[in-house]
Amino acid sequence: MGEIPDSHPRKASLLARTKLTEAAAEGLLAESALIAHGRGEAFDYLLGEKTSESASLAIHETAARLLKAERAVISLNGNTTVLAGEQAIRAAAIIGCPVEVNIYYRTPERMEKLISALENIRLKVANQDPPVGWDDSQWPEIVNSVDILGADADGLIEGLEGPRAICSSRGIEAADAVLVPLEDGDRCEALVALGKQVLVIDLNPLSRTARMAHVTIVDEVSRAMTELCSALVEDPHVSQWDNGQALRDALAIMAQASNQIPS
Ligand code: ATP
Ligand code: MG
Repeated sequence: MGEIPDSHPRKASLLARTKLTEAAAEGLLAESALIAHGRGEAFDYLLGEKTSESASLAIHETAARLLKAERAVISLNGNTTVLAGEQAIRAAAIIGCPVEVNIYYRTPERMEKLISALENIRLKVANQDPPVGWDDSQWPEIVNSVDILGADADGLIEGLEGPRAICSSRGIEAADAVLVPLEDGDRCEALVALGKQVLVIDLNPLSRTARMAHVTIVDEVSRAMTELCSALVEDPHVSQWDNGQALRDALAIMAQASNQIPS
């Protein structure tokens, strides 16, 4: 897969598939992870595989709300860790918040593998350049102090039953704002019911998650998380957010895809 030329129109998509199939073989993902990715890919095709202006506004709104929160947390599942783990650690370092591995099909093996993958990613990010305007000498320490939660499993998301309810008491349970890329609808609903700010990334503007969240970024997770890292250092401001409009914008772009067909 290393030989895909840069000019290949499906390059980003093929690389994402390679990353996910390799991670699946290493036991980092649930069996349904590749199916969930495929559903996302279909919507991304309709979006033209780029971040829309409307999604960019949602990214800036999310950045502002995460910075304003008293206890923000970034919740990570398998697909997000594999596709955007670096950006997630970077964002957490800029915000000064923890990340929490929180997976739908929870097994001790997958939790351990995802946490250790994130520990390696954290080492890598600590050696990367800091955001513009940040002190080079302090960046590694800031990154290395990002907490990777999830193993503690000593908290509960009220309103959910069984293993789905397990979380970290220092992370999601205590948070007032949660960034949850690719979240399931039930969990999103439970987090909203608990009064938390729920900020999601989901390519499907019609999913329950997308419709229930306070701010929905309808964009591919690695693109959105990369832009989030930039937005976080641009002094973003919280606005009166109309999330329904963001979802309608995304659907309008998808409807316009018919313009690509020769008449
Ligand atoms: P919901 O439970 O919210 O109603 P669902 O059951 O249809 O949604 P899930 O399998 O719970 O879907 O979650 C997967 C979601 O993640 C899908 O909506 C899919 O579009 C989205 N998704 C998959 N891959 C990506 C990606 N790389 N970037 C952004 N979103 C993605
Ligand atoms: Mg679901």
